[in-house]
Amino acid sequence: MSFFSLFHSLFFPLSCASCGKHGEALCQQCALHLPFAETLNDRRSFALYNYHHPLIARAVRTLKYHRRRELAEALLQHGAPRITEWLAEVLQSEAPERIVLVPIPQHQSKTRERGFSQSLLLARALKKALEGAEVRILLRKYRSTVPQARLKKRKERLANLIGTMEVDKALDPATLYLVIDDVITTGATVQEALRALGAGGAKRILAVALAHGYAQRH
Ligand SMILES: [Zn+2]
Repeated sequence: MSFFSLFHSLFFPLSCASCGKHGEALCQQCALHLPFAETLNDRRSFALYNYHHPLIARAVRTLKYHRRRELAEALLQHGAPRITEWLAEVLQSEAPERIVLVPIPQHQSKTRERGFSQSLLLARALKKALEGAEVRILLRKYRSTVPQARLKKRKERLANLIGTMEVDKALDPATLYLVIDDVITTGATVQEALRALGAGGAKRILAVALAHGYAQRH
């Protein structure tokens, strides 16, 4: 635990990420008003919430900089029925025997800086909500890239990431691999993760993100 998160948990006890009420990471009242996202165009990925809503933007920041396990769990617990519904729709009748949650890898320097990876935090929270799912750290980032924020065009962002992730073991074609990310913006990171898992032998690969940052009516 970093000094900052230790400090934070000592001096800022559990309170609702939206209204600040003490006792829960997200109170019942605020959970009712969480803004679910519209369905994405890409059928292989699903985002639960709309990042443009201030509550979600704040929650994503909180998860990124402070390890707030309870908040991650509350957000995913609340959204789990929607994820299950989406999975049933995409997979039709072919229910997978095994579901493996794969967090998007973070550059080591960032993990060192913050002491944790928010994708791993989210994957562990989703595991609690999806019965039988397991979490495995399969993807590695092995080449640093030009920061995506410096690249304006979506095409440039996609090209910048191709070949930056890999898996180091053979994957099972019958298992469903669910890539877990915090926010899908251009979709480039998720695309690269899907590519790398496919290259590792996975045949059933989908992605779930806490939120998407597309403009409305994408
Ligand atoms: Zn609240």
